[in-house]
Amino acid sequence: GSEKVLVKDKSDRATNEQVLDPRTRLILFKMLGRGLIERIDGCVSTGKEANVYHAVSPEGQHIALKIYKTSILVFKDRDRYVTGEFRFKGGYARSNPRKMVRLWAEKELRNLRRMKTAGLLVPEAVEVRENVLVMDFLGQGGADEWQASPRLKDAQIPPEQNRALYIEILVILRAIFFRCRLVHADFSEYNILYHQGHLWVIDVSQSIEHEHPAAFDFLRSDIKNADDFFAKRGVDTLGLTRTFTFVTRDTWVTGRDETDADAAEEVERLLGLAAEDAQREEREQKLAQERGEEDAQRPSASDEAVFAQAYIPRTLDQVYDAERDVERVLRGEGGGLIYADITGVASIHKKGGDKGDKKEGDGDKAD
Ligand code: ADP
Ligand code: MG
Repeated sequence: GSEKVLVKDKSDRATNEQVLDPRTRLILFKMLGRGLIERIDGCVSTGKEANVYHAVSPEGQHIALKIYKTSILVFKDRDRYVTGEFRFKGGYARSNPRKMVRLWAEKELRNLRRMKTAGLLVPEAVEVRENVLVMDFLGQGGADEWQASPRLKDAQIPPEQNRALYIEILVILRAIFFRCRLVHADFSEYNILYHQGHLWVIDVSQSIEHEHPAAFDFLRSDIKNADDFFAKRGVDTLGLTRTFTFVTRDTWVTGRDETDADAAEEVERLLGLAAEDAQREEREQKLAQERGEEDAQRPSASDEAVFAQAYIPRTLDQVYDAERDVERVLRGEGGGLIYADITGVASIHKKGGDKGDKKEGDGDKAD
């Protein structure tokens, strides 16, 4: 059959036949015809929603083809990302799987470009044709002995590099939220590639606008995945609450745009504070034990547990009693408000004191 021409490896055939329906094959043949790709020579990954193939251009460049599956079953559980997403208003055709899949592929391309523009390390998106996304291949080797770069989960990372990568991952989370105005929404060691000694973000078709009603719930779980991963590798991490504040905070730099170096410096500062807090808590716990208070729990541990469960309003509209909370902040009692920094309550407070120092990011749409 013709799929043999497209993909050499016979063992991949069963999978190929699921994905490469006649229409998808036609798209690939057109890419061959146009000279965008010269051959497709292997399957990098077979997933639930998409397969990723390695291809080579006539110039010998490595290319990744992400081919979304067009079966309707695959896309059922994606609804939670789409509900509330303004970019899909009106345009989301549940009844037509091919059209739906095309929207996902286009969305992944747009999100990749948006992240690239913001200076993030992501594969460069080349083009999308229906359910086929063409992008740079992250890997190494010559045209015949290529190898895809490993996922963070599988990467052999020198232990002494873990802390630097942890800081890098927080800078990435902040850049996605603060500069791209997006939440990745499936951020984990499975969707980050370790390439050329750095972390590259992939798999962004489900990423959502930061004002999506569930954005903060997705962000919290993105942050948790990052924190857990490096905590398990022995890094002293910031924990959920502090990281959430770091990622979403309005800005800490005045007078110029914030760079990755600024963000990394801020992480270092917060790590220093966290270490001091931990030491103080340890001392206090020791004292409590000496006084015979056996079950003295660390306050930070219970704060973290509360935060993990807390409902985080995304906008002032979602705040139960905004007026009461604003009053509290104005009286200087805002410390316990999870959202004080993010929904604009804090800026209301500041506007009273500062002289018209206009802050960025007060809820305007990014695109
Ligand atoms: P999904 O998880 O939805 O199947 P991903 O975008 O995460 O799709 O891709 C699946 C796997 O394919 C990744 O874990 C990675 O190993 C590989 N992969 C994806 N994009 C690239 C790329 N541009 N370069 C190299 N490998 C890639
Ligand atoms: Mg993935």
